[in-house]
Parts: sequence; C-alpha cells; structure tokens
Amino acid sequence: MLDYKNQAKWPNGFGSQQSPIEIKTAQTLKSKEPLDYHVVSDYQLHQEVDDGTTVRLTGEGAARIFNREYHFVQVHFHAPSEHVIDGKHYPLEIHLVHQNDIGQLVVVALLVSAGELDDEKLQQIMTTYENGKTEPVDLNISDWAPWYPVGFHYLGSLTTPPLTEGVEWLVLTNPEFTISDRQIDWFHQHFGDDNRDPQPLNDRQVELYK
Ligand SMILES: [Zn+2]
Repeated sequence: MLDYKNQAKWPNGFGSQQSPIEIKTAQTLKSKEPLDYHVVSDYQLHQEVDDGTTVRLTGEGAARIFNREYHFVQVHFHAPSEHVIDGKHYPLEIHLVHQNDIGQLVVVALLVSAGELDDEKLQQIMTTYENGKTEPVDLNISDWAPWYPVGFHYLGSLTTPPLTEGVEWLVLTNPEFTISDRQIDWFHQHFGDDNRDPQPLNDRQVELYK
C-alpha cells in the first residue's frame, strides 16, 4: 500500500512538472476569459472501490474543457487537500478524473471547505463503503461541478505512482457545497492523511480564472 509517511521512497517522482503544487494567487496569470469547464453528460457513478489509500468510484459522463470533449472516468478523495492555496490546505480535495479519446488526462480538483451540514452524496458514499471491497452504487454527482467554475489551471502530473506527467489540472476553489467535521473525520479514520506533499513549481505558469 502507498505510504504517505515515506513519500521520498515513491517511484518515478523525478520530473520537473509534478503535482500537487502550492499556488500563490499573486503570482498567477489572470485570465480575462471565464473557465471553460462544463458537464455535458451526467457524472453517474456505478462502482465503489476501497483501494486502501482512498475510496474510488468509477462511472460515466462527459465534460467540455477548453472546448475539448472528455469522458468522466472516476472520482476519489484526499484529506487534507493536496493543493495548497496561499499557504492554506482545505480539509478535503475531490479529484474528478477525465480522459479523452487519445488518452489525455484532465483532473478537476474540488477544494472543499468544512461547514455545518453533512454532504448527502458523500454520506451515501460513506454508507456504501465496505472495507477492502468493491460495491455497486448508483449516484449522480454532476452537481458537484460548480456552474460557474473559479480557480486555477496548470500542467502537472498524477499525484500517486506512477506520477506520470502531462496531466492537465483545473483546481477549483468554489464548489457549492461543504462537508461536516464528522465527514472529514471519517476520511482520516479510514485512510489517515493521504495527501502528497507540494512539489516544486519550477518554470510553470499557473492561470487564474474568476
Ligand atoms: Zn487524486
């Protein structure tokens, strides 16, 4: 199983365009255009997998991202967040993984804050969860995607081995839902801290969309 306490021993983290990163808003390139990310076919989840370091749900759906079509492939979770914004971790980061017909990956990361109420869809995922097992699930998470997305765009990598580069990232800071402290605790109790440390930005440019 992936050991988050010994990240230096992970294989293949040798590139210069690794993820996650710490984003400093003052150093971003401000875009004049809105962020072109829209769900065009519902994100429908069919299967829930305990992979030991997180819970991963696979399904189907589609999105338009910068005027290109992508299939929605899977969603999984990191607590606390992997991306750090102006020195701040969020309690939860949701990764919506997309792939197009020639294998290019875009991960839409939702940085989720703590609030008063449970998120109902996360609650259903927690209720379905069975230690070490794969379970059927029927859940539509399309409305996790903000209708007017605000956040950052940059080029990075997978955040788990093989840490492959060439992955495009949309890191969104305005999901329209929160999760409760009790739900945050659930992730920590089952998986511990499962966030990769921020990696050097090197000469990459981060774009800000708002
Ligand atoms: Zn992830």
